[in-house]
Amino acid sequence: RSTNLQGYAPICFGNEDFYTRRLYLRIQDCFERPISSAPDAWFDVVERYSNDNNKTLKRTTKITKCLNLGSYNYLGFAASDEYCTPRVIESLKKFSPSNCSARADGGTTTLHNELEKSIANFIRKPAAIVFGMGYVTNSAILPVLIGKGGLIISDSLNHNSIVNGARGSGATIRVFLHNTPSHLEEVLREQIVEGQPRTHRPWKKIIVIVEGIYSMEGELCKLPEIIAISKKYKAYTYLDEAHSIGAVGKTGRGVCELLGVDPADVDILMGTFTKSFGSCGGYIAGSQELIQYLKYTCPAHLYATSISPPAAEQIISAIKVILGEDGSTRGAKKLAQIRENSNFFRSELQKMGFEVLGDHDSPVMPIMLYNPAKIPAFSRGCLEQNVAVVTVAFPATPLLLARARICISASHSKEDLIKGLEVISQVGDLVGIKYFPAEPNKP
Ligand code: PMP
Repeated sequence: RSTNLQGYAPICFGNEDFYTRRLYLRIQDCFERPISSAPDAWFDVVERYSNDNNKTLKRTTKITKCLNLGSYNYLGFAASDEYCTPRVIESLKKFSPSNCSARADGGTTTLHNELEKSIANFIRKPAAIVFGMGYVTNSAILPVLIGKGGLIISDSLNHNSIVNGARGSGATIRVFLHNTPSHLEEVLREQIVEGQPRTHRPWKKIIVIVEGIYSMEGELCKLPEIIAISKKYKAYTYLDEAHSIGAVGKTGRGVCELLGVDPADVDILMGTFTKSFGSCGGYIAGSQELIQYLKYTCPAHLYATSISPPAAEQIISAIKVILGEDGSTRGAKKLAQIRENSNFFRSELQKMGFEVLGDHDSPVMPIMLYNPAKIPAFSRGCLEQNVAVVTVAFPATPLLLARARICISASHSKEDLIKGLEVISQVGDLVGIKYFPAEPNKP
């Protein structure tokens, strides 16, 4: 079907190298288009070129307004906000786009200190440290926390930044089956004897690493069980809340709040500012001792230019809105809206017969395509009807588990969601990805 729709040659499965290169070409052709506006509910997609029967690449400059079903702008702060935007502009005037210095070399502004206090308070941890990039937060922190002689036990679907941080640390790495606490326990039992004191174990330190919401699965972490097992075997827990902080929980405090876990039970809480807060950067929140140690030893704190002041102001202001400290109820409304939007969109997709991964309340909902040949057909089919979706394939997912990854925002209106559902349904019929029978009451 994708061949009919797009004029594609069948993808070769025999030679993975050839296949992969070919797939990358297609991916660029399909949706690596520049965006020329804020990542709001609707955004401007620039048609870079059109593919003329694979013979010539004609350049075009057409800009299309598309429904944005792919950004991590969960609470809608990434677009202009009546509270955040004027403050960000003020901070730009007062400070500058960059500090041109590392934190320890004059790159700490009053905004950085305020941000660290504000995020620690939000996370309900004694202290926090912030970095200019979420990816770097994982990849630079893990080698500081653990090294040779240590053991990392990582969920099999953890993000690449965690994988690279773990590899860079020099610690031994063991992987447990995705979100399967019983397998985590099995792996731990292979490494240590239950009840053995830390000092008598073959490992200097053990860290169990999980994510709050898995970015390619939309699934919530089985956090209470993971914590119980980690405690039983005296391992530290490290939780990446990139997709859950600000997006879930009654007051936006992530999976801990949603699942009734006391943040004090998670040793290291990590998160990014690039999603719910509409900014950039990442944080680690933990005990005073841990954060002090990281400030003295982490190269990404000592040698990298600190987070940009306007980006810091955006996060501070967004947290104030979420907590209602701006004097309005907009934060609470945004949180209620993202929950309602996500649950509505997910259940409608399921009713139509799509295979949708992930849990109730999660704004991340992958629609399974399976066959990678369906990627260009699905994404182009949607784009032709002004709906932008992100499709994901190898190496981000296993080869034959390609999917479209929908991200829902509080800024989507009901009409937006219905438009998205109609287009996805039509294209889904064309591409053949409704793997279950539809329920009679389709929207
Ligand atoms: N952790 C997870 C789980 C992620 O999904 C991502 C990116 N989406 C990151 C870390 C890196 O964050 P950033 O994009 O803010 O650099």
